[in-house]
Amino acid sequence: MGKFCYDNLKDQASVVREEIEKLVNQGEIEQLVQKARVNKSQPQVSHPNIICDGCDANPVMGIRYKCTQCDDYDLCAKCEHSGVHSHHTFLKIRDPKQAPAKLICKYPAQTGPMPNFHHDQKLDIQEIAKNVPQMAQVA
Ligand SMILES: [Zn+2]
Ligand SMILES: [Zn+2]
Repeated sequence: MGKFCYDNLKDQASVVREEIEKLVNQGEIEQLVQKARVNKSQPQVSHPNIICDGCDANPVMGIRYKCTQCDDYDLCAKCEHSGVHSHHTFLKIRDPKQAPAKLICKYPAQTGPMPNFHHDQKLDIQEIAKNVPQMAQVA
């Protein structure tokens, strides 16, 4: 019985190997590898509706830098590196999906409420934490 199972496995293994060899011969795997390489070497994602405030690039491509202290200030990687807005702290966003809908940053150097925030957007962090017990448990 044991031998039977083993032989059976061996048969299956050779079938799988044949399938793989077929794919390799058809160049399909090579194509897949090429595709993956292309995706890796071109990380140029675009950030729809985001305009660089340094060079007016529209939309910002690649990495988007969002100022955490201004209400609406974004830079492309090139402008961020040029130091055009280096007096403020930036959020580095590679994927548009990672962009936060709202951003609240408070820095030690700042006193009082965020100057650029609208009144209706003010959020009480403790109030939010109370309403999200799962978050408290994880922490
Ligand atoms: Zn720019
Ligand atoms: Zn700023």
